[in-house]
Amino acid sequence: MTPAAYAVLDLDAVRHNLAKVRECAPNAKVMAVIKANGYGHGLLRMAEALQQVEAFAVARVDEGMRLRKAGFKNRIAVLEGFTCTEELDELLHYQLDAVVHCPAQLDILQARTEPGACAVWLKIDTGMNRLGFKAAEFNAVYQRLSQCGLVKQPISLMTHFASADDVNDDKTLKQINLFNDTVAGFPGERSLANSPGILGWEQSLSDWVRPGVMLYGISPFAGSTGRQLGLRPVMSLHSRLIAVKPINAGETVGYGGGWICPKSTTLGVVAIGYGDGYPRHAKAGTPVLVNGKRVSLIGRVSMDMMTVDLENQPDAKPGDPVTLWGESLPVEEIAHWADTIPYTLVCGVTQRVQLVEKMAPD
Ligand SMILES: *Cc1c(COP(=O)(O)O)cnc(C)c1O
Repeated sequence: MTPAAYAVLDLDAVRHNLAKVRECAPNAKVMAVIKANGYGHGLLRMAEALQQVEAFAVARVDEGMRLRKAGFKNRIAVLEGFTCTEELDELLHYQLDAVVHCPAQLDILQARTEPGACAVWLKIDTGMNRLGFKAAEFNAVYQRLSQCGLVKQPISLMTHFASADDVNDDKTLKQINLFNDTVAGFPGERSLANSPGILGWEQSLSDWVRPGVMLYGISPFAGSTGRQLGLRPVMSLHSRLIAVKPINAGETVGYGGGWICPKSTTLGVVAIGYGDGYPRHAKAGTPVLVNGKRVSLIGRVSMDMMTVDLENQPDAKPGDPVTLWGESLPVEEIAHWADTIPYTLVCGVTQRVQLVEKMAPD
């Protein structure tokens, strides 16, 4: 029997999506972003499927460490860099690239005297106001870093977009221009584009691109699905019915009793809930596939279960297959119903859900 809640990962789709990145950015090297357990798809699994890329990016040192311990030899950039000299030691030991984004990191680097193999991505804050040095600080920071014995030269240069998912917001162009003006004349490779940059802002392509969500077949844009952009979804989330019963008009379903049955119907209980990462805020009406056909979520999602209206599936029975998102039910659509973004849904799939790789058809 299949597990109560499981996710199927299509690694052919990953390779297809990488090919799409290369098609959009034919002259760029690819730094595949596999932070947060490969956006919930499995860090090592994603690294394996993407081993052709020129580099990986992770958020934290321990993620890079896991990749090295598993034997990956690709360049690995740690997007948050290091916060203390011990963490820098780990970074050096595992030969991870450091993103340098704040003055405290400069102090740590300057205090070290050993000649250096620390590859650095200097991050410039062009408007995201999260990590990075302001354009006005760039020259001075660049000088300091160039004089650090530990830092491998030339330093690479990067920035990150705040609003590239909105192709009508000219903030991205401003960020691109500010970055290009700031680094003009300095040596070192450049990197600007995340997925929406790659797909929507040709001007943002440079030496390196940093695709994340598009590698998983998900659209970074609110109004579209990965499929519509020529991507193939990697993850599908599945469960099964565990009870089917009639329910009368006027009865309520689930915690809080907020959903009142408008007319007699058949109710199905599905063995998946927010304890598996299905969003608790998914509204009544959110589509769910039962036996491949769309039905509506009703009542509140609970920890281990949720309920659906089987009005159009009178013959459904316990054990029947349920899909929460995937192939024919885009995760982008579920995110919309749950007032969130698809990133949070795939990242949020919990340990309890079994991840299985899709078998190649023979
Ligand atoms: C997460 C992240 C990315 C990837 O973003 P997507 O929108 O998933 O493509 C790229 N660059 C940085 C700095 C990031 O933090």
